[in-house]
Amino acid sequence: MDMFFHEGDLVGVLTTQPLDRVLDYRAPEGGCWIGAFVEVPLGPRKVLGVVWGPGKGDYDLTKIRAVSRVLDAAPMREEMRTFLTRAADYTLTPMSAMLRLGTRAPGLGDPQSMRTVYRLGIGVPDRLTDARARVIEVMRDYGGLAFTLAELAELAGTGPSVIKGLVKQGVITEEAALRDTPYPRLNPDHGGHDLTEDQQDGAKVLRHAVREGTYGTTLLKGVTGSGKTEVYLEAVAECLRIGRQALVLLPEIALTGQFLTRVEARFGARPAEWHSGITMAERRRAWRMVGQGEAQLVVGARSALFLPFRNLGLVVVDEEHDTSYKQEDGVLYNARDMAVLRASLNGAHVVLASATPSLETWANVEAGKYAQIELTSRFGPAVMPQMRAIDMRAEDLPGGRWVSPTLQGAVAARLEKGEQALLFLNRRGYAPVTLCRACGHQIGCDQCDARMVEHRFLKRLMCHQCGATKPIPKTCPSCGAEDRLAPVGPGVERLAEEAQALFPAARVAVLSSDLYGSARALKAHIESIANGGADIIIGTQLVAKGHNFPLLTLVGVIDADLGLQGADLRAAERTFQLMRQVSGRAGRVETPGEALLQSFQPEHPVIRAILSGDQEGFWRAEAAERKAAGVPPYGRMAGIVLSSPNVQEVFDFGAEMARKDAPLRRIGAQVYGPAPAPIARVRGRHRVRLLVKAEKGVPLQAALSQWVAQFRIPATLRLSIDIDPQSFL
Ligand code: ADP
Ligand code: ZN
Repeated sequence: MDMFFHEGDLVGVLTTQPLDRVLDYRAPEGGCWIGAFVEVPLGPRKVLGVVWGPGKGDYDLTKIRAVSRVLDAAPMREEMRTFLTRAADYTLTPMSAMLRLGTRAPGLGDPQSMRTVYRLGIGVPDRLTDARARVIEVMRDYGGLAFTLAELAELAGTGPSVIKGLVKQGVITEEAALRDTPYPRLNPDHGGHDLTEDQQDGAKVLRHAVREGTYGTTLLKGVTGSGKTEVYLEAVAECLRIGRQALVLLPEIALTGQFLTRVEARFGARPAEWHSGITMAERRRAWRMVGQGEAQLVVGARSALFLPFRNLGLVVVDEEHDTSYKQEDGVLYNARDMAVLRASLNGAHVVLASATPSLETWANVEAGKYAQIELTSRFGPAVMPQMRAIDMRAEDLPGGRWVSPTLQGAVAARLEKGEQALLFLNRRGYAPVTLCRACGHQIGCDQCDARMVEHRFLKRLMCHQCGATKPIPKTCPSCGAEDRLAPVGPGVERLAEEAQALFPAARVAVLSSDLYGSARALKAHIESIANGGADIIIGTQLVAKGHNFPLLTLVGVIDADLGLQGADLRAAERTFQLMRQVSGRAGRVETPGEALLQSFQPEHPVIRAILSGDQEGFWRAEAAERKAAGVPPYGRMAGIVLSSPNVQEVFDFGAEMARKDAPLRRIGAQVYGPAPAPIARVRGRHRVRLLVKAEKGVPLQAALSQWVAQFRIPATLRLSIDIDPQSFL
């Protein structure tokens, strides 16, 4: 039973303000439930909070103020409170920041606003014009549905005055309705393909798991195009049938367009959407309706995990290996891991879908913690592309050019047949370096320890760390020589120029996240390319993320060695995943595809594993290396980044932290560093890293908290702790 507090009872309220403690208040007139969203006075202000439990009474009782009001929203459920608490403990994040994640909808405190809607009434029009007839017809077509004035006018192809005229005669009625309306019901049996045997087996296992209503995680593994989406949509259908809510997480907003269309075809209506591309009004509606159980399915980005689901029965993490599931600013959490935590508290099932799962997930399957379903072949006649390396040491390629004669020939052959080719290069902009040919100076960012990247499209140099831009100078800022600055190395814009020169008749399109003003524009562009709006696609890793390009039959990877150079412990894994994913874009329909990887080291074991597609072999070798080194997933890590405008301060502080490491030594953990971060300066702040390594199973978070608590952090210094870091910059 949930706890109820009567007027005047002491209640503890967690607020979104960075205070890091639950404050005591008195329950307001009418009382309140535990979990209630409330507004409380804090100093001169009123702030948002949640009734977290009984008050502690450890504060001057005469000074305790009353809760100002209880908001008109479903109280936060116990499992959500537990989720936020556990997630905060895991990521070492203050509770106030967790609560902010859980209340990311504007106007939560506002009374529900109203809008005017129109329905068919019983009156008869004095005169039936064409326009009037159309309006009436639209309303009849849609049964008893209510429309806004704008919707109705658009559907009927008339102006608002026609509708207003019908209102006067009682043909149409005007009424006030709540603005935040429930989402249309989804019908689990609306559509759906006939599944192949493999797919049916997988769907059956997942349906059963969902019906059980207990926590479990299943890896759904299968090459791109094998029908993973078809299969997990059957799990969603089952979840809808038993009346529970489902959440599908996608790694990239640009993917939601294609996906929503698919959901609509399967369930007959569109689900709720949750990501940075939706409007504030949509955001508020989604948040409220999820809480009231009036949104059966949410399709969203990682932060959708923090929506107030009433009865969550299934979470799907599509492309689970994708690095964008790790939030790299603010609260540093990994959505894949948080999905598992949330589901375990809700008795929900988790499906992790991927063609190239992360080593973490692979290890959990090996250890028997996760179940696995495998789809072994592509749907229909499509097969995985033929993969081959192009040995760049044997290619005759002039400086300043990146498409080898072999690759050029392959592209030409595809274009002749009216098929599409993709040239993949994971580098935005025109050229990564701008070099002075007179003195050798490379133009850098004034604020960061990073070179400026030329963006010819924007006609500026840009810092990819802080986003600062400046015009491309005519003279060298170092030696003053005129017209000696030259771009060095390729970016996608430069590659597009080369492709256009090699194939003057071809339509070349660049797909890079920075070239579009909005997610919407990017989505539209992707769709037009998929429909044949380009012959050659030049893309960054954006194209690797599950888009469907039915006409694409050739993928040329410009620099397959690029990802192998980093010191990152996941460099091999990332390269393997990215290359397999990108190659998987080729040949999805009837025409067999081909993937060509330009490499200067085709004998490198990772390149060989990519070409042979021997995932198991690759993972076993990679797992053995990580085990030997005691690194994730076989050991634990935490990254500490210190930053300050003062370089001395940040190094001194880092050194002191490394010295006073007793709390870490007690659990057998080691500290490495301080060392300058690979990006040693960002936005004028100097950055230093420490790395903590521990064995699995030790209480790492508790030790880190004790360790950090020893130090008084100066106001100029920022300290962030990243548990299970993915990025080592
Ligand atoms: P994945 O998620 O593994 O990449 P998808 O589920 O997107 O694969 O399937 C790839 C394509 O094949 C999609 O266009 C999908 O609609 C189609 N497809 C998959 N399975 C079937 C099926 N059983 N019947 C009809 N079309 C299917
Ligand atoms: Zn910068």
